[in-house]
Amino acid sequence: MRSIISTESWQSTVLTAWIRSVFERNGIASTPRPALPTMPACDHRPQRYAGPSRGEVLVLRQRYAHPALFTFYREPLLIVEGHRQYLFDETGRRYLDLFAGIATVACGHSHPTVVARIREQAGMLQHTSTIYLHPNLPQLAQRLAAKMPPGLEVTYFVNSGSEATDLAVTMARLFTGSPDVIALRNGYHGGSPTAMALTGLSTWKFPTQQGAGIHHAVCPDPYRSPFTGTPEAIATQSAKDIQELIRHATTGRIAAFIAEPVQGVGGVTHGAPNYLAEAYAVVREHGGLCIADEVQTGFERTGAHFWGFQNYGVLPDIVTMAKGIGNGMPLAAVTTRREIADALLGRLHFNTFGGNPLSTAAGLAVLDVIEGDQLQDNARVVGARLKSGLQGLMRRHTLIGDVRGLGLMLGVELVRDRATKEPATAETLEVLEHLREIGVLAGKGGLAGNVLRIKPPLCITADDADFAVEALDYALARTGTP
Ligand code: PMP
Repeated sequence: MRSIISTESWQSTVLTAWIRSVFERNGIASTPRPALPTMPACDHRPQRYAGPSRGEVLVLRQRYAHPALFTFYREPLLIVEGHRQYLFDETGRRYLDLFAGIATVACGHSHPTVVARIREQAGMLQHTSTIYLHPNLPQLAQRLAAKMPPGLEVTYFVNSGSEATDLAVTMARLFTGSPDVIALRNGYHGGSPTAMALTGLSTWKFPTQQGAGIHHAVCPDPYRSPFTGTPEAIATQSAKDIQELIRHATTGRIAAFIAEPVQGVGGVTHGAPNYLAEAYAVVREHGGLCIADEVQTGFERTGAHFWGFQNYGVLPDIVTMAKGIGNGMPLAAVTTRREIADALLGRLHFNTFGGNPLSTAAGLAVLDVIEGDQLQDNARVVGARLKSGLQGLMRRHTLIGDVRGLGLMLGVELVRDRATKEPATAETLEVLEHLREIGVLAGKGGLAGNVLRIKPPLCITADDADFAVEALDYALARTGTP
């Protein structure tokens, strides 16, 4: 079908007029194959790269790096420089980065303020561990408390999202005295043993022992829900599923419920606005604490708010964060109320690198930049423009089954058939390849790997967003055709 509508003479033939009328009756506009889009201009000139060639790096990596490391694309990219929303390969070719180091480089690549503050701190003192005082750690904790609702005011710094997940769950279990934790199907919380057990995606779970006391409730996203009705009704039934799970699979009392306000790795899936409030109410009825995993949704990514949970008007007891907090530095954290934090006082707890002067210097710089550069407004405005552009593509490309997400955390789910929702997994890989060919780097997610994940640096411009939509239009038009 796509090759028929792409022929040059489509406008003049009766056959095509008929096809167009059929398409239009089904809400799909038939238009000629889109022209090659042009990336917005950029005045940054990348340095000449003098390191090992792409082939040499690939061989080195294959020989010495752990084989579990994987790359995107048939021909893996060598990326050697970054500037704001753009990345450069070893030849100096520029790419629009729509994945931001997996939703991490919030301020933009090599943001001058972040770089200057890291350089300044590295030249002064890099590491001592928390056995001595240093101003950066409590200053960053104070700045985070100011971003939180009242009560959430003490922070433990770690190095990765997985560590933050483990620590949050440990504190909840100690505080409540209960081992049981409810997570969501399709959620992702990390790769350490507890975080892997909490993850609700078989593709990320190894056949090692999965943590005891962990139960997975139904994902509230309406697109693939087992429940029917409006998104709000599906959200209510999904919250009731937590109640059923607690009543049947636990003692009736639980330690915690952990959920991403918008599931990232799972393919940018989320429930209707009533979901989290109803879920939190059920959890609290059964003595559980509510943990918001803000590893992807925090630091203004969802546009309307600083934290993802604020989109739903709920108040978590524990918040985990990573990725955007350090703009690429290994920094993560758990913020909670003092009485919950006190639960960890029964034994010694230590994290060698957690909150060291260098990573916290980056964290402080990130907060200055996202406030100073007004990145939240940008995420909201440019995110809305990008989302509506992507939704517009649904009329032209039947491969798009759903467009969803908040701010600059967007997902485009590709399906072979809108009725059966059969995942278009191979086609997603092909779309990613076509996007890369024209200089656009996007991500991929979902259980079947059929969701394009669009999570650019928050400094992306309206012109970049329009280009991204044109690029996807172009890539989709080429997908499935020789
Ligand atoms: N939680 C969420 C929501 C994540 O997306 C991730 C990472 N993708 C993690 C936790 C784990 O973070 P890390 O890879 O830093 O351990």
